[in-house]
Amino acid sequence: MGIIQSLRCRECRNEYDPKFRYICEECYGPLDVIYKFASDIKRDTFSLREKTYWRYFELLPIAHKGNIVNLNAGFTPLQHADILGRQLGGLKNLFIKNDSVNPTFSFKDRPAGVAVSRAKESKLKAVGCASTGNLASATAAHAAKAKLPCYIFAPTDIENIKIAQALSYGAEYVAVDGTYDDANRVAAVVGDSKGIGVVNINMRPYYVEGSKTLAYEVAEQLNWQVPDHLIIPVGSGAMLNAICKGFEELSDLGLIDSVTNLKITAAQPHGCAPVFNAFKNNSNEVIPVERPETIAKSLAIGDPGDGLYVLRRLKQYNGIAEEATNDEIIDGILALAKTEGIFTEPAGGVAIAVLQKMVEEGKIDRDEKVVCYITGNGLKATEALATVLPTLSVVKPDVQTVSAMIR
Ligand SMILES: *Cc1c(COP(=O)(O)O)cnc(C)c1O
Ligand SMILES: [Zn+2]
Repeated sequence: MGIIQSLRCRECRNEYDPKFRYICEECYGPLDVIYKFASDIKRDTFSLREKTYWRYFELLPIAHKGNIVNLNAGFTPLQHADILGRQLGGLKNLFIKNDSVNPTFSFKDRPAGVAVSRAKESKLKAVGCASTGNLASATAAHAAKAKLPCYIFAPTDIENIKIAQALSYGAEYVAVDGTYDDANRVAAVVGDSKGIGVVNINMRPYYVEGSKTLAYEVAEQLNWQVPDHLIIPVGSGAMLNAICKGFEELSDLGLIDSVTNLKITAAQPHGCAPVFNAFKNNSNEVIPVERPETIAKSLAIGDPGDGLYVLRRLKQYNGIAEEATNDEIIDGILALAKTEGIFTEPAGGVAIAVLQKMVEEGKIDRDEKVVCYITGNGLKATEALATVLPTLSVVKPDVQTVSAMIR
C-alpha cells in the first residue's frame, strides 16, 4: 500500500500530517502527497497485475486495499498513431494515450477514483466536485460504487449528455447560474461547511495523485522509456502537473532514466487560454478569463487553480504553451477520427490541433517520441460537430436508387 509520509506545501515546503486538509496554514499554498516508497519496487512489480491504474497501488495514497473504489479505470491503450503521424508530415513515433475509453469516458476516472477511495478511507459521509462536465460523471459513478451521496456543482452551459450521465449515477446536481469559477467558489465553502469531500477542492492533494498514473502507464507501455515530448490539454492545470510528478517519481524510484530532457506542451482553447496568454507574454501572472467562450467546455476554466504551476513546469521542461481556435479544434477532432479511428471531444481536438501547429512550426522533430494525451470521448460532446458534418439525404429503400449513389 502507498505509505504517505506527509502532505507538503508546494511553496514553503512545510509538511503536515495527512489529514483532511489541502492548504498550507503558513502560506496558503497547495499541498502534495509525499510518500515513503518501499525500496523493493521494480519494473516487474507491476507487469502481471490487473489492467487498471490500481496496478500501481503502492504509489497511490490509499492505505488499505479494502478502501479502493474500483471501476476498472485506466491502463487505457497507447496507440502508435502511424497514420496521423504520416499525415502530419512524417512523425514516426507519435503515440496517442487514448483515455477516452475509461468507464465514464474521460481521464477524470483517475483523479475521481483515487479521491473517492480516499474519502471512503477517511470515513467521509459524502463526496462531490466542482465540474466542467466530465468530473461530474467520474465522481458520481465512483460515489455510486462506494455507496456515498454525491453533490455536483457545475455551470448550466455544459453538454446535456454530461448532465444526463451524472444524474443517472444518482448524483445531486446543483446547476449554478454562472461560470465554472462561480460553481467552484460555492463548492469550496459549502463542501467544507457540510463535511463533503469535494474531490477537486478539499480532496485535491489526493485527487491529483490519480492523474499521475497517466505518466506511469505511458512509461510502462513504452517499455520504461522516457518519451521526448508530451502534448497535454490544460484546464485547471492539475493533470499536467500530476503527469510531471508521475514521471519524476518513476525516475526517483529508478524505474526510468532521468526526465530532465522531457519536453512538455500545454494546449489550451482560444477563448479560454489564460495559461497560454501568460506564457506568450512571458509573464508569471495568470490573468483570469472572465467569460470563457469555447467549444472545449471541459477546458473552460477561466481562473485555473494550477495555472502558475503549469508555467513553472513549462520552464522546468523546455515547455511551450499553444492555443487552438474552435475551427482548429474541430479539424483536430476529425483528423484524429479519420486517421486513427479515435473519436474525441473538443479537449482532445485542442491537443491534436496544437500538435499539428507545433509540427508545422518545426517545433517537433520527425524522430521525436511524442505522446499526445486524448482525455475525453467524442460521444460526450457531439453538439460541437453539428455544423460541420454532412447532412444526410434520405432515400427510399430501393436497391437501384442506392446503387446509383455509390460509385
Ligand atoms: C478536466 C479535463 C481536462 C483538463 O484537466 P485539468 O486537470 O483541469 O487541467 C482535459 N480534458 C478533459 C476531457 C477534461 O475533462
Ligand atoms: Zn506553505
